[in-house]
Amino acid sequence: GTVDLSPHAEVAEQDVESSLRPRDLSEFIGQPRVREQLELVLSGALRRGRPPDHVLLSGPPGLGKTSLSMIIAAELGSALRVTSGPAMERAGDLAAMLSNLVEGDVLFIDEIHRIARPAEEMLYLAMEDLRVDVVVGKGPGATSIPLEIAPFTLVGATTRAGALTGPLRDRFGFTAHMEFYSPAELEQVLHRSAAILGLRLHADGAEEIAGRSRGTPRIANRLLRRVRDFAEVRADGAVTRSVARSALEVYEVDEIGLDRLDLAVLGALVRSFGGGPVGVSTLAVAVGEESTTVEEVCEPFLVRAGLLARTPRGRVATAAAWLHLGLTPPPETVG
Ligand code: ADP
Repeated sequence: GTVDLSPHAEVAEQDVESSLRPRDLSEFIGQPRVREQLELVLSGALRRGRPPDHVLLSGPPGLGKTSLSMIIAAELGSALRVTSGPAMERAGDLAAMLSNLVEGDVLFIDEIHRIARPAEEMLYLAMEDLRVDVVVGKGPGATSIPLEIAPFTLVGATTRAGALTGPLRDRFGFTAHMEFYSPAELEQVLHRSAAILGLRLHADGAEEIAGRSRGTPRIANRLLRRVRDFAEVRADGAVTRSVARSALEVYEVDEIGLDRLDLAVLGALVRSFGGGPVGVSTLAVAVGEESTTVEEVCEPFLVRAGLLARTPRGRVATAAAWLHLGLTPPPETVG
């Protein structure tokens, strides 16, 4: 292929990722139920001229939670302020953020389940009463000064809705559970992205990539960029099924979309622990990853693909997992 010397060829990968984000609800592919519900919540709020209820978006990474938060702000014509649970280590950080809000702002808190307890307590009060109590001084002489904050909408995103405390969860007026995308929806995502990138993507090429994208638009877009590199360097630039296949072999993405880490997790479960049950932290140590990565990034898809089961006694490989690794499952293996 030819080398692109135009200025846009130099934009960083992250800019590419952001150029692929859907800008409004009509561009947001899939999740029909979430889209319809959100449309009603936003239209209702716009009619009343009041900020909508707080929104909780839950689901695995890469399904569009950040994109939706941007869309919510855009549809409301509001400014979006972005932070994350881990960044709110001290309640003071949150107090500063909240007291700077302007009426109607949308505050996006990613990984909200990781917010520290004192900040979380401050957040309830802010969500419900539009007030924060700022503590001045220390010890018995400390006093708390109530501070009013502007009416705002909180959009929280979490990969683990179950890890939120009840009181926090209860203060969201609307919770959207994001589901994995169907292959057909992922093909739509890929065709949209290819058009933005100016890439020739054949229908069978899209089908091949969609089938290996683990139900996740972010992965579909990432694989598309890797396939694009391959198509430009080793072929004529067009993405056909065979180009996609050859490219994804180079990048070690298998035919159902499992990557190196997924295969390491399944491999350890089967080979080192006889198929389980084994605790997630032991499994994570065996593959040299953090437990949270194994739990929040790998497992949801492995569970959905029917390869891994979470049981009260630990993680268990299903018969399908053994077969996927080319091994014979022991007779007592589940599913
Ligand atoms: P999350 O916050 O859930 O991790 P993001 O909103 O960052 O996910 O989405 C990751 C990428 O996937 C986005 O940059 C966007 O390109 C793409 N994407 C996600 N959801 C959709 C969708 N419904 N339609 C089109 N593209 C999407």
